[in-house]
Amino acid sequence: MRRHVSLPAPHRGSSTAKILAERYVLRVEARARGEHLDPEAQSGQTGRLRATQVVTGHGCFGHYLHQIQRELGPQCHECGDPDDSAQQTLEMCSRWEGERRTLMRAIRTTDLSLHSVVAAMLGSERKWKAVVSFCEEVISQKEAAEREREDAADAPPLRHRRRGRARAQYAAANRALPR
Ligand SMILES: [Zn+2]
Repeated sequence: MRRHVSLPAPHRGSSTAKILAERYVLRVEARARGEHLDPEAQSGQTGRLRATQVVTGHGCFGHYLHQIQRELGPQCHECGDPDDSAQQTLEMCSRWEGERRTLMRAIRTTDLSLHSVVAAMLGSERKWKAVVSFCEEVISQKEAAEREREDAADAPPLRHRRRGRARAQYAAANRALPR
């Protein structure tokens, strides 16, 4: 059984995203054949979604939120970096040093470039889970902080609960990958 995997348009064709999408399909097919996959690896739809956000850059990152006009600027609210991209979050943001150390130990490399992280994910179930778990931990906290900023009484109108086009874009970018 092959399911269609849809990725956000600007990254369709990006080889990294494509590799990950293929990996999802392989996992779906393995399950369809009745092969045993680690139960924990099978759960955590949100973890996979967060990992996708990190790989595609479409998620709770200042850079992206600014691009879709949900933030006034692209800076990182955690460390003040002028450009809060997925890569900034993965490699540099001082806020996530602890999570990053745990991840580097688990995937046995200090190279957190996207290429290296995806290679680790493809390398083993254990490393896959370590990356997913890092993404889940970090992005869920970034999203919680983003919600707090949205709800803040003095938030600029732009930031109040997303509506219309911005909401549709955000929803499209966060569309879940197949189970
Ligand atoms: Zn930061």
